Amino acid sequence: MAVKQKARHALTVASLLLALLHQPWRTFAAELTWDPSGYVLYCPCMGRFGNQADHFLGSLAFAKMLNRTLAVPPWIVYRHNTPPYTNVHVPYSEFFQLEALSAYHRIVSLEDFMEKLAPKHWPPSQRTAYCFETAAQRSSDKKSCPMKDGNPFGPFWDHVGVDFDASVLYAGISFSAHHQPQWMKRFPPLENPVLALPGAPAQFPVAEEHVGLQRFVVWSNKMMEKGEKHIASLLTRPYVGIHLRIGIDWQNACKMLKSGEAGPHFMASPQCVGYNRQKALPLTMNMCLPELGEIRRAVKLWAKRTSARSVFIATDSESHSVEIEKLLKGKVKVVSLTLDLAQMDLYILGRADHFIGNCVSSFSAFVKRERDVRGLPSSFFGMDQPGVSNPKEEL
Ligand code: GDP
Ligand code: MN
Repeated sequence: MAVKQKARHALTVASLLLALLHQPWRTFAAELTWDPSGYVLYCPCMGRFGNQADHFLGSLAFAKMLNRTLAVPPWIVYRHNTPPYTNVHVPYSEFFQLEALSAYHRIVSLEDFMEKLAPKHWPPSQRTAYCFETAAQRSSDKKSCPMKDGNPFGPFWDHVGVDFDASVLYAGISFSAHHQPQWMKRFPPLENPVLALPGAPAQFPVAEEHVGLQRFVVWSNKMMEKGEKHIASLLTRPYVGIHLRIGIDWQNACKMLKSGEAGPHFMASPQCVGYNRQKALPLTMNMCLPELGEIRRAVKLWAKRTSARSVFIATDSESHSVEIEKLLKGKVKVVSLTLDLAQMDLYILGRADHFIGNCVSSFSAFVKRERDVRGLPSSFFGMDQPGVSNPKEEL
């Protein structure tokens, strides 16, 4: 009997080990082992959440291209209006599941990298920064990477607890797949185990071939639970979710469209006008900064088409909820959260029965990509069918 039990026990241990071997992500629950193929570290130092998310997808692809583990950075949240007025660094896993990324490529959180791997494998005094020659031109000796110059750069690396000791400069290479062999040749992992970069090794907006990586960005259980609670308590399905990007910074940005300084490719607009510059559709003012008339038209159209029982408004400023309620004759519940957690808005928009977004906004683009992954329908202000111009739309 005892022998049988022992045998069974051995069997369970063996199958457990086997399971562990087949799930490399398990290693971050247990002990972290050093990756001899090296690491990519970067600061998500450009823009707010939407920009950082676009850059994240490209950086994930870059790390995979170089066969290096990606050290997933925290999100930088800017708090200009609320105490303590300094940037907050929110671990990736607060919002999304780290483990879900492992289905695509090897990752470790930057926090774990610093705590568990850096002391031994990337100790102070051996911390080299890598940057473009052009970036180093900005430094006083013209030979140092400006890793910690200004905000958010300094606070980010301070938060992580890193000072840099040396710089390696490069030129003539880009982050695209085209230059993969050059990267491998120039920076073999044995001599360059940690590629620490001042910014994301990616382009903005996200390259077309990386849009689909959104499927590895999966909400954390905490966000899902909270989000579903909000939806269940506030909204009745079917509901239309809309993103109003109409605040003062956006009004200023969209002026560049009016003045002709910006063409059809303007920030996140390729999601609407197409990635091909030669074939890009016109980017109209309503696609950048919808007027109240256009907001009303689009909401009315989609509320009717989906037989909506509620409308969820996410906004960077005004919600226009009174106008929208009136427009729908009080028959449809209109809801707008005044949470300062932008990610909760993203979650609720992502789960709507229909979504109306802003073509130029990377915040909207996040929602659109996520919905595409789930096969949910989306449209935009000024563009009812993504990739097809609305008839009679004014430039
Ligand atoms: P983009 O500027 O629209 O491309 O997107 P970003 O995410 O880079 O910057 C806009 C920022 O404004 C967001 O990250 C939010 O902090 C804030 N914001 C914009 N729209 C909304 C919204 O609908 N709800 C909330 N809560 N915040 C928003
Ligand atoms: Mn922005």
